[in-house]
Amino acid sequence: AKDLGRNQYHFFTEEINQQLIDRLELEGRLRRVLDNEELTLHYQPIYSLERNFITGVEALVRWRQPDGSLWGPYRFIPLAEEIGMIHAIDNWVLRSALRTMAPWLSGSNDAMRLALNISSQQLQMPGFHQYVAEQLTANGVTPSQLELEITERMLVDNSDSTQENIQRLCEMGVRLSIDDFGTGYSSLGYLQNYPFHTLKIDRSFVCNIGINTHTARLIDTIITMGHGLGMEIVAEGIESDLERQFLKAHGCDQGQGYLFSHPLPLEQLRPLLEKAVRE
Ligand code: C2E
Ligand code: CA
Ligand code: CA
Ligand code: CA
Repeated sequence: AKDLGRNQYHFFTEEINQQLIDRLELEGRLRRVLDNEELTLHYQPIYSLERNFITGVEALVRWRQPDGSLWGPYRFIPLAEEIGMIHAIDNWVLRSALRTMAPWLSGSNDAMRLALNISSQQLQMPGFHQYVAEQLTANGVTPSQLELEITERMLVDNSDSTQENIQRLCEMGVRLSIDDFGTGYSSLGYLQNYPFHTLKIDRSFVCNIGINTHTARLIDTIITMGHGLGMEIVAEGIESDLERQFLKAHGCDQGQGYLFSHPLPLEQLRPLLEKAVRE
């Protein structure tokens, strides 16, 4: 019995060691992710629900693995935040997305927008607004064509630098979007204190359309309230025509989701944008 206990002890420490080794290996790879050019962006088109044309795209980051598979943000953004890599990653996303999308944002298509997800650490970074301004200038993109998506979670810690960044970005004309609306705390307080241009209804509401009658009323209320505050409303995660019809009928302005298009690499997005420009 004594021996068995000892073996089990060994077994567990080995398992823990392996976890530590895996984690250190992952951390090491993540620290080199930019040097090794392993990040890539997919773009999900956002559609006008009224007229069914593309109003913009949301850039979503992916990490290419040695085996060729792509990891979604949930698999590395939390670790990147933990080890302080998120600044470098978010700046890379900003730079790359602006450079890639600049040709589509200029010229006849000046109503088109690029939406990016910003982490709370990034928004807290003193001088973040200057970096955004530099990148807009460098790529010749009009500030109002950039929309930064912020989740309510980020506003919980309301530091001076966050405030300053938000204020400066707004003065510049950059648009702010409240992402995953309804999933955080005291959303209404944030609407009072921050000048959001767009409200994104979270997928957890959208996927209950046609299933839960309370959800339907809640969405209706969110849309009415958002419009009352002068915001545009975007619904995310639209997968069925029923959901699209419902949202359109209740006055939701825009939508994105698998029904319209999955997030796509640039090569696959390009034909959709070319079509959008022609129409
Ligand atoms: P999010 O901003 O809420 O992005 C929407 C997520 O829903 C994306 O997942 C997208 O692929 C997925 N999605 C879109 N349409 C549908 C649909 O019809 N059905 C379903 N089931 N899902 C749909 P993804 O790409 O895995 O991104 C997850 C989250 O990671 C994003 O959530 C965003 O918060 C974060 N993220 C993405 N890119 C970045 C980035 O560059 N920087 C930072 N800091 N966070 C990012
Ligand atoms: Ca988003
Ligand atoms: Ca979202
Ligand atoms: Ca979401």
